[in-house]
Amino acid sequence: MSLQKRDKKHLWHPLKQHQLNPDSLAIVKAKGCILTDEDGNEYIDAIASWYTCMYGHCNEYIVEATYKQMQQLDQVMFSDFTHEPVIKLSEELIKILPQNQNKIYFNDNGSTAVEAGIKMALQYYFNNGEKRSLFIAFENGFHGDTFGAMSVSGLSVYNDPFEDFLIDVKRIPTPNGSNTKTLLEQLKLLVSHHNIAGFIYEPLIQGAAGMKTHDAKGLNTILNFFKQHNILTIADEVMTGFGKTGKNFASDYLETKPDIMCLSKALTAGLLPMAITSCTQEIYDAFLSNDVAKGFFHCHTYSANPVACATAIAGIELLTSTKIQDSIKWIEQSHSKFNTEIKNHPKVETTRHLGVIFAIDLNVKMARYGDLRDKLLKFFMDRGVFLRPLGNTIYIQVPYVISKAELQKVYQTIQDALHFI
Ligand SMILES: *Cc1c(COP(=O)(O)O)cnc(C)c1O
Repeated sequence: MSLQKRDKKHLWHPLKQHQLNPDSLAIVKAKGCILTDEDGNEYIDAIASWYTCMYGHCNEYIVEATYKQMQQLDQVMFSDFTHEPVIKLSEELIKILPQNQNKIYFNDNGSTAVEAGIKMALQYYFNNGEKRSLFIAFENGFHGDTFGAMSVSGLSVYNDPFEDFLIDVKRIPTPNGSNTKTLLEQLKLLVSHHNIAGFIYEPLIQGAAGMKTHDAKGLNTILNFFKQHNILTIADEVMTGFGKTGKNFASDYLETKPDIMCLSKALTAGLLPMAITSCTQEIYDAFLSNDVAKGFFHCHTYSANPVACATAIAGIELLTSTKIQDSIKWIEQSHSKFNTEIKNHPKVETTRHLGVIFAIDLNVKMARYGDLRDKLLKFFMDRGVFLRPLGNTIYIQVPYVISKAELQKVYQTIQDALHFI
Protein backbone atom coordinates (compact mmCIF):
# COMPACT_ATOMS: atom_id res chain seq x y z
CA MET A 1 0.00 0.00 0.00
CA SER A 2 1.26 3.50 -0.81
CA LEU A 3 2.34 5.78 2.01
CA GLN A 4 -0.36 8.18 0.92
CA LYS A 5 -3.02 5.50 1.55
CA ARG A 6 -1.53 4.33 4.86
CA ASP A 7 -1.37 7.93 6.08
CA LYS A 8 -5.16 8.21 6.05
CA LYS A 9 -5.75 5.47 8.60
CA HIS A 10 -4.41 7.11 11.78
CA LEU A 11 -3.05 10.54 10.96
CA TRP A 12 -4.47 14.00 11.54
CA HIS A 13 -2.62 16.78 9.71
CA PRO A 14 -2.45 20.43 10.80
CA LEU A 15 -4.13 23.24 8.82
CA LYS A 16 -6.22 20.76 6.88
CA GLN A 17 -9.92 20.04 6.38
CA HIS A 18 -9.59 16.29 5.85
CA GLN A 19 -13.08 15.93 4.42
CA LEU A 20 -12.37 18.31 1.53
CA ASN A 21 -8.75 17.48 1.07
CA PRO A 22 -7.88 13.97 2.25
CA ASP A 23 -4.58 13.34 0.42
CA SER A 24 -1.09 14.17 1.64
CA LEU A 25 1.85 13.66 -0.67
CA ALA A 26 4.45 11.33 0.85
CA ILE A 27 7.99 12.69 0.70
CA VAL A 28 10.66 10.02 1.01
CA LYS A 29 13.82 12.06 0.56
CA ALA A 30 15.14 15.62 0.75
CA LYS A 31 18.54 16.88 -0.35
CA GLY A 32 19.65 20.46 -0.93
CA CYS A 33 16.60 22.21 -2.41
CA ILE A 34 14.95 19.05 -3.75
CA LEU A 35 12.10 17.06 -2.20
CA THR A 36 11.42 13.59 -3.68
CA ASP A 37 8.02 11.90 -3.36
CA GLU A 38 7.26 8.19 -3.11
CA ASP A 39 6.79 7.93 -6.89
CA GLY A 40 10.19 9.50 -7.51
CA ASN A 41 8.89 12.94 -8.56
CA GLU A 42 11.10 15.86 -7.57
CA TYR A 43 10.10 19.30 -6.34
CA ILE A 44 12.16 22.42 -5.67
CA ASP A 45 11.43 23.48 -2.09
CA ALA A 46 10.97 27.19 -2.86
CA ILE A 47 9.83 28.06 0.68
CA ALA A 48 12.54 26.09 2.48
CA SER A 49 9.94 23.95 4.29
CA TRP A 50 8.42 26.88 6.15
CA TYR A 51 11.62 28.94 6.24
CA THR A 52 13.60 26.34 8.17
CA CYS A 53 16.01 24.50 5.81
CA MET A 54 17.88 27.62 4.70
CA TYR A 55 21.19 25.77 4.22
CA GLY A 56 19.49 23.05 2.18
CA HIS A 57 17.93 19.79 3.30
CA CYS A 58 20.19 17.20 4.93
CA ASN A 59 23.13 19.60 4.73
CA GLU A 60 26.21 17.46 5.33
CA TYR A 61 27.93 19.95 7.61
CA ILE A 62 24.85 20.26 9.82
CA VAL A 63 24.13 16.51 9.82
CA GLU A 64 27.77 15.75 10.72
CA ALA A 65 27.81 18.20 13.66
CA THR A 66 24.50 16.81 14.90
CA TYR A 67 25.62 13.20 14.63
CA LYS A 68 28.84 13.96 16.48
CA GLN A 69 26.91 15.51 19.36
CA MET A 70 24.46 12.55 19.46
CA GLN A 71 27.29 10.22 20.33
CA GLN A 72 28.54 12.42 23.14
CA LEU A 73 25.52 13.71 25.11
CA ASP A 74 21.92 13.28 24.02
CA GLN A 75 19.66 14.89 26.60
CA VAL A 76 20.02 16.28 30.09
CA MET A 77 17.69 18.41 32.22
CA PHE A 78 18.49 22.06 31.70
CA SER A 79 16.76 23.01 34.96
CA ASP A 80 19.47 21.11 36.86
CA PHE A 81 22.51 20.93 34.56
CA THR A 82 24.37 22.81 31.88
CA HIS A 83 26.57 21.62 28.99
CA GLU A 84 29.02 22.83 26.40
CA PRO A 85 26.73 22.93 23.32
CA VAL A 86 24.29 25.28 25.06
CA ILE A 87 27.08 27.50 26.41
CA LYS A 88 28.75 27.72 23.01
CA LEU A 89 25.40 28.40 21.32
CA SER A 90 24.65 31.26 23.72
CA GLU A 91 28.08 32.76 23.00
CA GLU A 92 27.61 32.48 19.23
CA LEU A 93 24.10 33.94 19.38
CA ILE A 94 25.16 36.92 21.47
CA LYS A 95 27.79 37.71 18.81
CA ILE A 96 25.14 38.07 16.09
CA LEU A 97 22.05 39.28 18.00
CA PRO A 98 21.36 43.02 18.41
CA GLN A 99 23.75 44.42 21.02
CA ASN A 100 21.21 44.92 23.79
CA GLN A 101 20.32 41.20 23.92
CA ASN A 102 22.20 39.45 26.71
CA LYS A 103 20.23 36.44 28.02
CA ILE A 104 19.05 33.35 26.14
CA TYR A 105 16.01 31.34 27.21
CA PHE A 106 15.08 28.03 25.55
CA ASN A 107 11.77 26.78 24.13
CA ASP A 108 10.65 24.10 21.71
CA ASN A 109 8.97 26.02 18.88
CA GLY A 110 8.03 29.48 17.66
CA SER A 111 4.71 29.59 19.51
CA THR A 112 6.26 28.73 22.86
CA ALA A 113 9.07 31.24 22.23
CA VAL A 114 6.33 33.87 21.93
CA GLU A 115 4.46 32.40 24.90
CA ALA A 116 7.60 32.74 27.04
CA GLY A 117 8.14 36.30 25.75
CA ILE A 118 4.61 37.29 26.77
CA LYS A 119 5.00 35.68 30.19
CA MET A 120 8.40 37.34 30.66
CA ALA A 121 6.88 40.75 29.96
CA LEU A 122 3.93 40.18 32.33
CA GLN A 123 6.15 38.89 35.12
CA TYR A 124 8.73 41.65 34.59
CA TYR A 125 6.09 44.20 35.67
CA PHE A 126 4.62 41.87 38.29
CA ASN A 127 8.04 41.41 39.91
CA ASN A 128 8.46 45.20 39.87
CA GLY A 129 5.16 45.54 41.75
CA GLU A 130 3.01 46.59 38.78
CA LYS A 131 0.00 44.83 37.33
CA ARG A 132 -0.16 45.19 33.57
CA SER A 133 -2.33 43.06 31.34
CA LEU A 134 -2.83 44.50 27.87
CA PHE A 135 -0.72 43.78 24.79
CA ILE A 136 -0.54 45.78 21.61
CA ALA A 137 0.01 43.97 18.32
CA PHE A 138 -0.21 44.63 14.60
CA GLU A 139 -3.32 43.80 12.61
CA ASN A 140 -2.85 40.56 10.64
CA GLY A 141 0.22 39.56 12.63
CA PHE A 142 0.93 35.89 13.24
CA HIS A 143 2.71 34.71 16.36
CA GLY A 144 1.72 31.07 16.76
CA ASP A 145 -1.06 28.75 17.89
CA THR A 146 -0.75 28.38 21.68
CA PHE A 147 -3.16 30.55 23.69
CA GLY A 148 -0.92 33.55 24.35
CA ALA A 149 0.55 33.49 20.85
CA MET A 150 -2.91 32.99 19.35
CA SER A 151 -4.20 35.97 21.37
CA VAL A 152 -1.65 38.38 19.98
CA SER A 153 -2.09 37.04 16.43
CA GLY A 154 -4.39 39.19 14.35
CA LEU A 155 -4.99 36.55 11.70
CA SER A 156 -7.84 35.02 13.61
CA VAL A 157 -9.97 33.68 10.76
CA TYR A 158 -10.02 30.20 12.23
CA ASN A 159 -9.88 31.05 15.95
CA ASP A 160 -13.60 31.47 16.64
CA PRO A 161 -13.88 28.53 19.08
CA PHE A 162 -11.23 30.09 21.31
CA GLU A 163 -12.17 33.80 21.20
CA ASP A 164 -13.56 33.81 24.76
CA PHE A 165 -10.34 32.48 26.26
CA LEU A 166 -7.74 34.83 24.83
CA ILE A 167 -5.67 37.48 26.63
CA ASP A 168 -6.50 41.14 26.10
CA VAL A 169 -4.97 42.68 22.97
CA LYS A 170 -5.45 45.93 21.07
CA ARG A 171 -4.44 45.98 17.43
CA ILE A 172 -2.88 48.77 15.45
CA PRO A 173 -2.28 49.03 11.68
CA THR A 174 1.24 48.50 10.37
CA PRO A 175 3.17 51.70 9.51
CA ASN A 176 2.88 52.48 5.79
CA GLY A 177 5.01 55.61 5.52
CA SER A 178 2.09 58.05 5.77
CA ASN A 179 0.17 56.97 8.90
CA THR A 180 2.84 57.50 11.58
CA LYS A 181 1.12 60.53 13.07
CA THR A 182 -2.25 58.76 13.36
CA LEU A 183 -0.53 55.73 14.82
CA LEU A 184 1.15 57.83 17.50
CA GLU A 185 -2.16 59.46 18.41
CA GLN A 186 -3.78 56.04 18.67
CA LEU A 187 -0.94 54.85 20.91
CA LYS A 188 -1.16 57.92 23.16
CA LEU A 189 -4.84 57.22 23.67
CA LEU A 190 -4.19 53.54 24.45
CA VAL A 191 -1.44 54.40 26.93
CA SER A 192 -3.67 56.88 28.76
CA HIS A 193 -6.47 54.31 29.20
CA HIS A 194 -4.62 51.03 29.81
CA ASN A 195 -1.74 49.43 31.67
CA ILE A 196 0.16 48.09 28.69
CA ALA A 197 2.59 45.22 29.24
CA GLY A 198 4.08 45.00 25.80
CA PHE A 199 4.06 45.48 22.08
CA ILE A 200 4.67 42.41 19.94
CA TYR A 201 5.54 42.69 16.26
CA GLU A 202 7.01 40.85 13.29
CA PRO A 203 9.67 43.38 12.26
CA LEU A 204 9.43 44.60 8.64
CA ILE A 205 7.69 41.50 7.20
CA GLN A 206 4.52 39.76 8.35
CA GLY A 207 5.02 36.19 7.14
CA ALA A 208 1.68 34.46 7.53
CA ALA A 209 -0.16 37.61 6.41
CA GLY A 210 1.40 36.94 3.00
CA MET A 211 4.90 38.39 3.37
CA LYS A 212 3.43 41.88 3.86
CA THR A 213 6.15 44.48 4.36
CA HIS A 214 5.88 47.75 6.30
CA ASP A 215 7.76 50.99 6.77
CA ALA A 216 10.99 50.71 8.81
CA LYS A 217 11.03 54.39 9.78
CA GLY A 218 7.46 54.25 11.04
CA LEU A 219 8.18 51.07 13.01
CA ASN A 220 11.20 52.73 14.55
CA THR A 221 9.07 55.69 15.65
CA ILE A 222 6.56 53.33 17.28
CA LEU A 223 9.32 51.40 19.05
CA ASN A 224 10.72 54.67 20.39
CA PHE A 225 7.29 55.62 21.67
CA PHE A 226 7.08 52.37 23.65
CA LYS A 227 10.62 52.83 24.99
CA GLN A 228 9.73 56.32 26.24
CA HIS A 229 6.62 54.94 27.95
CA ASN A 230 8.48 52.05 29.60
CA ILE A 231 6.49 49.45 27.65
CA LEU A 232 8.40 46.32 26.67
CA THR A 233 8.79 45.49 22.98
CA ILE A 234 8.87 41.89 21.73
CA ALA A 235 10.26 41.25 18.24
CA ASP A 236 8.93 38.00 16.82
CA GLU A 237 11.76 37.06 14.46
CA VAL A 238 10.71 33.42 14.21
CA MET A 239 10.29 33.87 10.45
CA THR A 240 12.67 36.77 9.71
CA GLY A 241 15.64 35.57 11.78
CA PHE A 242 18.94 34.20 10.50
CA GLY A 243 19.53 36.05 7.25
CA LYS A 244 16.21 35.90 5.40
CA THR A 245 15.89 39.69 5.15
CA GLY A 246 19.48 40.16 3.94
CA LYS A 247 20.72 40.95 7.45
CA ASN A 248 21.04 38.43 10.28
CA PHE A 249 17.87 39.80 11.89
CA ALA A 250 15.20 42.20 10.63
CA SER A 251 15.83 44.22 13.82
CA ASP A 252 19.27 45.04 12.37
CA TYR A 253 17.48 47.42 9.96
CA LEU A 254 16.03 49.37 12.90
CA GLU A 255 17.71 51.80 15.26
CA THR A 256 15.57 50.93 18.24
CA LYS A 257 16.16 47.39 19.42
CA PRO A 258 13.55 45.14 21.02
CA ASP A 259 13.65 44.20 24.73
CA ILE A 260 12.74 40.60 23.92
CA MET A 261 13.28 38.53 20.77
CA CYS A 262 11.67 35.25 19.65
CA LEU A 263 13.62 32.93 17.37
CA SER A 264 13.00 29.50 15.87
CA LYS A 265 12.51 28.09 12.34
CA ALA A 266 15.97 28.51 10.72
CA LEU A 267 17.66 28.45 14.16
CA THR A 268 18.13 24.69 13.82
CA ALA A 269 18.38 24.62 10.02
CA GLY A 270 15.26 22.49 9.64
CA LEU A 271 16.84 19.50 11.33
CA LEU A 272 15.42 19.59 14.87
CA PRO A 273 12.77 21.62 16.67
CA MET A 274 14.06 24.30 19.05
CA ALA A 275 13.36 27.94 19.83
CA ILE A 276 14.81 30.80 21.82
CA THR A 277 13.48 33.82 23.66
CA SER A 278 16.32 36.29 24.21
CA CYS A 279 16.14 39.40 26.36
CA THR A 280 18.10 42.30 27.82
CA GLN A 281 20.02 42.17 31.08
CA GLU A 282 17.44 44.54 32.58
CA ILE A 283 14.61 42.06 32.08
CA TYR A 284 16.66 39.20 33.49
CA ASP A 285 17.58 41.30 36.53
CA ALA A 286 13.89 41.81 37.37
CA PHE A 287 13.67 38.05 38.04
CA LEU A 288 16.56 38.04 40.54
CA SER A 289 15.39 37.92 44.14
CA ASN A 290 15.66 36.02 47.42
CA ASP A 291 12.08 35.04 46.71
CA VAL A 292 11.93 31.79 44.66
CA ALA A 293 8.58 32.75 43.18
CA LYS A 294 10.15 35.71 41.38
CA GLY A 295 12.11 33.32 39.16
CA PHE A 296 10.77 32.36 35.73
CA PHE A 297 8.85 29.10 36.19
CA HIS A 298 8.22 28.34 32.56
CA CYS A 299 9.91 25.20 31.31
CA HIS A 300 9.84 22.65 28.53
CA THR A 301 11.20 19.15 29.06
CA TYR A 302 13.55 19.34 26.09
CA SER A 303 14.83 22.86 26.91
CA ALA A 304 18.29 23.39 25.40
CA ASN A 305 18.58 19.81 24.17
CA PRO A 306 22.33 19.36 23.52
CA VAL A 307 21.83 17.79 20.08
CA ALA A 308 19.60 20.64 18.90
CA CYS A 309 22.15 23.13 20.29
CA ALA A 310 24.93 21.48 18.27
CA THR A 311 22.74 21.70 15.17
CA ALA A 312 22.09 25.40 15.82
CA ILE A 313 25.81 26.15 16.28
CA ALA A 314 26.56 24.51 12.91
CA GLY A 315 23.75 26.59 11.38
CA ILE A 316 25.21 29.86 12.69
CA GLU A 317 28.65 28.84 11.41
CA LEU A 318 27.18 28.44 7.94
CA LEU A 319 25.10 31.64 8.18
CA THR A 320 28.15 33.73 9.00
CA SER A 321 30.34 32.09 6.33
CA THR A 322 31.32 34.14 3.27
CA LYS A 323 29.79 31.50 1.03
CA ILE A 324 26.29 31.84 2.50
CA GLN A 325 26.54 35.62 2.83
CA ASP A 326 27.48 35.81 -0.87
CA SER A 327 24.56 33.54 -1.78
CA ILE A 328 22.13 35.77 0.08
CA LYS A 329 23.46 38.73 -1.94
CA TRP A 330 23.10 37.07 -5.33
CA ILE A 331 19.61 35.79 -4.51
CA GLU A 332 18.70 39.36 -3.53
CA GLN A 333 20.05 40.64 -6.86
CA SER A 334 18.20 37.93 -8.80
CA HIS A 335 14.96 38.87 -7.02
CA SER A 336 15.50 42.51 -8.03
CA LYS A 337 15.90 41.53 -11.64
CA PHE A 338 12.88 39.23 -11.54
CA ASN A 339 10.91 42.05 -9.96
CA THR A 340 11.50 44.38 -12.91
CA GLU A 341 10.40 41.59 -15.27
CA ILE A 342 7.19 40.78 -13.49
CA LYS A 343 5.88 43.82 -11.63
CA ASN A 344 4.01 45.32 -14.60
CA HIS A 345 2.33 42.07 -15.64
CA PRO A 346 -1.45 42.62 -16.00
CA LYS A 347 -2.21 39.84 -13.48
CA VAL A 348 0.12 41.34 -10.87
CA GLU A 349 -1.18 43.90 -8.41
CA THR A 350 1.99 44.53 -6.38
CA THR A 351 5.35 42.94 -5.69
CA ARG A 352 7.80 43.30 -2.81
CA HIS A 353 11.11 41.79 -1.86
CA LEU A 354 13.65 41.88 0.92
CA GLY A 355 16.66 39.57 1.23
CA VAL A 356 15.71 36.13 -0.12
CA ILE A 357 11.99 36.83 0.30
CA PHE A 358 9.93 37.75 -2.74
CA ALA A 359 6.15 38.15 -2.87
CA ILE A 360 3.59 38.89 -5.55
CA ASP A 361 -0.02 39.90 -4.92
CA LEU A 362 -2.21 38.81 -7.83
CA ASN A 363 -5.07 41.07 -8.82
CA VAL A 364 -7.39 38.08 -8.53
CA LYS A 365 -9.57 37.40 -5.49
CA MET A 366 -8.52 34.17 -3.82
CA ALA A 367 -9.63 32.64 -0.51
CA ARG A 368 -6.77 31.69 1.82
CA TYR A 369 -7.59 28.00 1.45
CA GLY A 370 -10.07 28.15 -1.47
CA ASP A 371 -10.42 26.41 -4.87
CA LEU A 372 -8.26 28.74 -6.95
CA ARG A 373 -5.52 28.54 -4.35
CA ASP A 374 -5.66 24.72 -4.51
CA LYS A 375 -5.49 24.82 -8.31
CA LEU A 376 -2.49 27.12 -8.22
CA LEU A 377 -0.72 24.90 -5.70
CA LYS A 378 -1.36 21.89 -7.96
CA PHE A 379 -0.09 23.84 -10.98
CA PHE A 380 3.20 24.48 -9.18
CA MET A 381 3.54 20.89 -7.94
CA ASP A 382 2.82 19.46 -11.42
CA ARG A 383 5.75 21.54 -12.65
CA GLY A 384 8.03 20.38 -9.85
CA VAL A 385 8.04 23.46 -7.66
CA PHE A 386 6.74 23.57 -4.10
CA LEU A 387 5.24 27.00 -3.51
CA ARG A 388 2.43 27.61 -1.06
CA PRO A 389 0.24 30.58 -2.04
CA LEU A 390 -1.46 32.45 0.82
CA GLY A 391 -4.69 34.03 -0.38
CA ASN A 392 -3.76 35.94 -3.56
CA THR A 393 -0.09 36.10 -2.60
CA ILE A 394 2.57 33.90 -4.18
CA TYR A 395 5.83 34.11 -2.29
CA ILE A 396 9.32 32.67 -2.46
CA GLN A 397 11.72 32.10 0.38
CA VAL A 398 14.38 29.90 -1.14
CA PRO A 399 17.17 28.09 0.68
CA TYR A 400 20.45 30.04 0.54
CA VAL A 401 22.06 27.12 -1.32
CA ILE A 402 19.67 27.19 -4.29
CA SER A 403 21.40 26.92 -7.68
CA LYS A 404 20.96 29.49 -10.44
CA ALA A 405 19.10 26.94 -12.59
CA GLU A 406 16.76 26.02 -9.75
CA LEU A 407 15.96 29.66 -8.97
CA GLN A 408 15.31 30.35 -12.67
CA LYS A 409 12.92 27.42 -12.74
CA VAL A 410 11.02 28.84 -9.75
CA TYR A 411 10.72 32.25 -11.47
CA GLN A 412 9.66 30.65 -14.78
CA THR A 413 7.01 28.54 -13.08
CA ILE A 414 5.54 31.64 -11.44
CA GLN A 415 5.51 33.42 -14.80
CA ASP A 416 3.75 30.42 -16.39
CA ALA A 417 1.23 30.44 -13.54
CA LEU A 418 0.26 34.02 -14.41
CA HIS A 419 -1.00 32.77 -17.78
CA PHE A 420 -2.84 29.91 -16.11
CA ILE A 421 -4.93 31.93 -13.65
C1 LIG B 1 5.94 30.18 12.38
C2 LIG B 1 5.82 31.36 13.22
C3 LIG B 1 5.48 31.26 14.58
C4 LIG B 1 5.09 29.96 15.24
O1 LIG B 1 6.12 29.04 15.24
P1 LIG B 1 5.80 27.49 15.41
O2 LIG B 1 7.13 26.85 15.50
O3 LIG B 1 5.02 27.08 14.21
O4 LIG B 1 5.00 27.34 16.66
C5 LIG B 1 5.48 32.41 15.34
N1 LIG B 1 5.78 33.60 14.79
C6 LIG B 1 6.11 33.74 13.50
C7 LIG B 1 6.45 35.09 12.96
C8 LIG B 1 6.13 32.63 12.66
O5 LIG B 1 6.44 32.76 11.37
